[in-house]
Order: sequence, then C-alpha cells, then structure tokens
Amino acid sequence: MVGQHDVKLVSARRVMERTNDMGEAGAMGKLKNGLMTIAALAASPALAQQLCPTATSQPQADGRMFNHLPYAETNGAIMQPAPPSISPDGSCKVHPAIVADLMRMAADADRDPMIAGQLRALSCWRGTEYQRMVFCNGIHIGLMQRAQTSAPPGYSEHATGYVIDFGTANPGDCPNIEGCFAASPVGQWLLKNAPRYGFELSFPAGSKQRVTWEPWHWRWVGTSGGVPGAASARAVFARARAEYPASPSPQEAPLVIRVMSQPENPNAGKPPPAPEEKRKRRR
Ligand SMILES: [Zn+2]
Repeated sequence: MVGQHDVKLVSARRVMERTNDMGEAGAMGKLKNGLMTIAALAASPALAQQLCPTATSQPQADGRMFNHLPYAETNGAIMQPAPPSISPDGSCKVHPAIVADLMRMAADADRDPMIAGQLRALSCWRGTEYQRMVFCNGIHIGLMQRAQTSAPPGYSEHATGYVIDFGTANPGDCPNIEGCFAASPVGQWLLKNAPRYGFELSFPAGSKQRVTWEPWHWRWVGTSGGVPGAASARAVFARARAEYPASPSPQEAPLVIRVMSQPENPNAGKPPPAPEEKRKRRR
C-alpha cells in the first residue's frame, strides 16, 4: 500500500522520534498532529501507537489495546451538563441523548430514602487528550498495569459521552472508584436500578474482556433500541456488547415477562401502579 497515508505515517513517526529530546509540554503539543494521523489510521494493527510522550505500544491483533476496545472521541462541544443534584460542581458533561434518562434517574435516586442526596456523577465525557494525560500520569507502574485501572487514550468509553463513573457523596470507609463501592448503598441502588434508566455495567466481574471489574462505570444504551438516541449509542458499543456483554444491562430487565405475568385485569380503570410497586413486582 503506497500513497498519501504512507507519507503521513512517516511524518507522524518522525514527530514521535524527536519527542525524546523535547520538554514534555512541547512534546505533547507537537505530538498531537502526529497522533491524530495515527488514530485515523488505527486500522493498521501492526503499527505501534504513541500512547504517551515516552511510551508506545502495539495494539493486539484484534485491535484492542491492553484489552480495551478503540473508541472515537465525540465532539465535546455537543456535551450537556448532568443534573446539578448529581454534579454540583458542573464538571460532568454527557451526550445529549442521555440527559432525559439521567434526570429521571437523579430525581428517583433522591426520592429513595436509602440514598437521597448521595448519588454523584464523578467523571463523564473525557476527551482523548485529557484521557492521555490521566493515563500517562500513572505509567510509572508499567503500561499493562496502568491499563488495568485506566484506559489508554483512544480506547476509553468515556470519549463517547455515553458513560458515567458514579459515586457517592458519603464515601465513609469506602473511597469512590473502588470495588467496595458495589456493596455501598449507592452501588447497590445502581446495580438494582440503573438498567431502568438505560444504563449497563460495561465491565462486570469476571468479564472475558479481562478489564478490571468497575462497579462504578456505567454506559448508556437506552432502555430499548427505540428510545431516541439509543440506536446510535448501541452502534457505538456494538462490538463491546456482542463480544463482552455488560451486566446488569437493560436487556436483562424482564420488562416483557412482567407485563405478561400481571394478573388478569383486576385493576381495570385504575391508574397504573407507582414506580415502587413496579420495581418489587419485577424481582
Ligand atoms: Zn469509567
């Protein structure tokens, strides 16, 4: 294959080869163009990628990097703020398609006495360059080790805008973004309820993707494919969902069975049951 791409690749490589002699800030800036070219050509699996100013790595044969699937960045300019009740500092920005479900979720969480006022959206949309900074700040432990707890730039679900790392305002003995979160009141509430708002747990325990269990990291795919925006979200995560299914997920919520198992119309003419009743019936 000879052509324009090869020329771009050579120049990208040259930019990267020079970076060892430059300061980190300068190197990051000059790297950017070269890295964008590399990202655009990620279809070449043999090509080592410059993940950090001082680190390159080759994707796996299946296109993953340290088991993380590649994700393109969604333009940050379209992101919208999460509800202030779960992001009081306004730092959480999400894809517009999520907002309606997220508002419903935040309101319902605050109505549940077990966790009222506690649900927080800690980390949401993250651009690829920000992801690079986060990832590269911790690579002293080794790239493979680092990738256990942070996706490499270009391989984070957070770049899509459909993903939220949830936490609690009252961490107590369990710091946010730790496995113990799963046993906390907010962690338990999410495991039971997040699928009702279209969220699924990307990295469940024992996933064959071999990404560490992250009970705080939820991606939005809509409660069904017909929800506005859900088809696009499902397309973005199609490979992840096919090869490494999330759990729990909206698919696992027995919505159809619930309708079919309701008693024969004893409540004709009455208003539908309150959300609390619905939830109990489904379990
Ligand atoms: Zn996350």
